[in-house]
Amino acid sequence: MKKILLGCIADDFTGATDLANNLVRAGMRVVQAIGVPAQPLAASADAVVVALKSRTVPADEAVAQSLAALRWLQAQGAQQIYFKYCSTFDSTAQGNIGPVAEALMDALADQPGSDFTIATPAFPDNQRTVFKGHLFVGDVLLNDSGMQNHPLTPMADANLVRVLQAQCRRKVGLIDHRVVAQGPQAIQDRIGQLRAEGVGLAVVDAVSNDDLMCLGPALKGMPLVTAGSGVAIGLPGNFGLAPSGTASALPVATGLQAVVSGSCSLATNRQVKAFIASGRPALALDPLALAADEPGAVAQALDWARPLLGAGPVLIYSSADSASVKSVQAQLGVQAAGELVERALATVARGLVGRLGVRQLVVAGGETSGACVQALNITQLQIGPQIDPGVPWCHARSDAAPNGGLHLTLKSGNFGSDDFFSKALAQLA
Ligand code: ADP
Repeated sequence: MKKILLGCIADDFTGATDLANNLVRAGMRVVQAIGVPAQPLAASADAVVVALKSRTVPADEAVAQSLAALRWLQAQGAQQIYFKYCSTFDSTAQGNIGPVAEALMDALADQPGSDFTIATPAFPDNQRTVFKGHLFVGDVLLNDSGMQNHPLTPMADANLVRVLQAQCRRKVGLIDHRVVAQGPQAIQDRIGQLRAEGVGLAVVDAVSNDDLMCLGPALKGMPLVTAGSGVAIGLPGNFGLAPSGTASALPVATGLQAVVSGSCSLATNRQVKAFIASGRPALALDPLALAADEPGAVAQALDWARPLLGAGPVLIYSSADSASVKSVQAQLGVQAAGELVERALATVARGLVGRLGVRQLVVAGGETSGACVQALNITQLQIGPQIDPGVPWCHARSDAAPNGGLHLTLKSGNFGSDDFFSKALAQLA
């Protein structure tokens, strides 16, 4: 097996896909692994993104998971490591961005240049920009963006130098916009200056893709890069790779088509409505019916789908508006309702693939996707062409689809246009 070039460690699942998608668009063939693989890489790829669930766990656990991912990526030959976090720099009071970044620097200490790394969540395509070290979400500072009220990772300060310094032992500096705009040489000169001042990590300004493309060449050979997914667009060029259709090539799609949706976000609810309005068959799963007889309701859903699938895609969904979600949660409990619906939809997905011959599957919902991927025993995804920003088609092996695997796309809540379901399935055909 050819060695990989870039080894990536992502602190959550949909963030991993977002990064993989950007790397593919910039010309790399990418495999996303769910957790640290137990085996060497099976497919050939330029980059592997290991998806962890380390964003909100205690810092020492996040460090341990990330170091395990690093060791595996090094064993696959990775020349550069990319630690990927959220474009809103989501972190708990204890980190985990700083502690993980520094643990990776320590672990890479035998490599020249590992005494310094950058940090920037900038992703201008998604309205995340960094200016004078401050993170903007759209037109407002991070701490006015709603992120100040996030249930798990509230972000009350938009000054990333200050946020990161509070999480780091090493000194944190800034590579500001005037330097970035002057291009790769100016950035490298500034890095030299910061190093001489004893700075170990520097936040980098970027307000446009041009800035990210200036940054890319300046990061050539740096053992560790830490960033959101935006910086990825400027890295493949350092390895002699350019955007091409072959990076996103997947096996030819076969089999039947279906959509499973457990996301209750506004965008997903619109997508469900649009699919039904287009005249396609759709079946709503009622969480209270599931609570009464889960196996019965799942079997009924599969029996409903069986005769319809031959004529085109079907949708099985639990997506509902916030009033009905609240009512269900009041009756079943928030956690229990979520787990029940996730488990049922995952069993439906497994049945659609394993028993009914579905080989092209759209899944809506981050947690729902995690449950479906687990039920399908999927551990690695080959990343294909983008459907909508941040959402690519993938191909995976699964014991439920023993001959040739299946195509699937995993859409987190608020991503995708209203016609996403039909558009995605039409794109694959
Ligand atoms: P998103 O990406 O939009 O956040 P997720 O799949 O991550 O979507 O989360 C949606 C959560 O809501 C899941 O835990 C799912 O099981 C749960 N859920 C889905 N439908 C319902 C419903 N009708 N009532 C209550 N909870 C639901």
